[in-house]
Amino acid sequence: PVALSLPAVSCSRLPPTFLHYPLSPGGGSGIGRAVCQRFASEGATVVVADISEESANQTLGSLNHDHTGQDHMASAVDVSSRESVEKLLTSIQCRYFQPPSVCVNAAGITRDEFLLKMEDEDFDKVIQVNLKGTFLLTQAVGKALVACGAPKGSIITVGSIVGKVGNIGQANYSASKAGVEGLTRTAAKELSRYGIRCNCVLPGFITTPMTDKVPEKVISQLTSMVPLGRMGEPSEVADVCAFLASDDSRYITGTSIEVTGGLFIG
Ligand code: NAP
Repeated sequence: PVALSLPAVSCSRLPPTFLHYPLSPGGGSGIGRAVCQRFASEGATVVVADISEESANQTLGSLNHDHTGQDHMASAVDVSSRESVEKLLTSIQCRYFQPPSVCVNAAGITRDEFLLKMEDEDFDKVIQVNLKGTFLLTQAVGKALVACGAPKGSIITVGSIVGKVGNIGQANYSASKAGVEGLTRTAAKELSRYGIRCNCVLPGFITTPMTDKVPEKVISQLTSMVPLGRMGEPSEVADVCAFLASDDSRYITGTSIEVTGGLFIG
């Protein structure tokens, strides 16, 4: 059952927040964790969700709850499964009596291989998690917000700069991320009549467990191409998400913001 009540918390800048938070098992510094921490420090109630419940709980334990009424929760979710995403939304609404008003889907995987050698399975898996997962979350949150007549919402998707420029060994990943941008722009057009804004952040190379897998030689080559001369920090992506979640961006929808230190600006 879905019901709308008063906000679970009254917070300073951000509304009560649903956040998909993916954290690599054992990882300590993914983009999703940084977004959770930033939103919690703004006073939002945060739902931390991850394929690993243990990782979600680790993040939950790191969240600020100094603001009155903050009541964070953690949950497992597989973003590529409709059943799992719908179960998560139901559990959120049972607990808070309202849908999440902000959604940041930072789940993502890579299965890198050269195009000529890539197996169907690796192509399909990356599309399933990165693109289908974004579709399922955007649809579920959008439906819940519309159903309860919420006055506004902000859905933030995570693409990648390689969705624009391509990347050797990442035919599957770059295709999925280009798809995320197209989906976000379409969602913005369809959902703006309900007061729901949809925007995409495009990180460049950010220090997280995902980029820990990239060989040191490749990292130093890439870093030398970044005009600002370094890799980005997860908190620098989180700062942009906080802007897109807040009313400071109230006239922005359907856009993509590059967070790349100037990489590939032309
Ligand atoms: P990360 O720490 O590896 O986060 C990705 C997380 O998603 C992992 O914890 C992963 O769990 C989880 N996940 C995988 N499949 C899932 C599923 N089906 N449902 C729920 N969670 C799932 O990497 P990150 O760098 O923070 O990445 C966050 C987002 O930013 C991703 O969308 C990524 O594509 C994007 N991005 C990152 C960079 C970068 O430089 N780091 C650049 C551009 C875009 P497992 O580890 O168990 O698979």
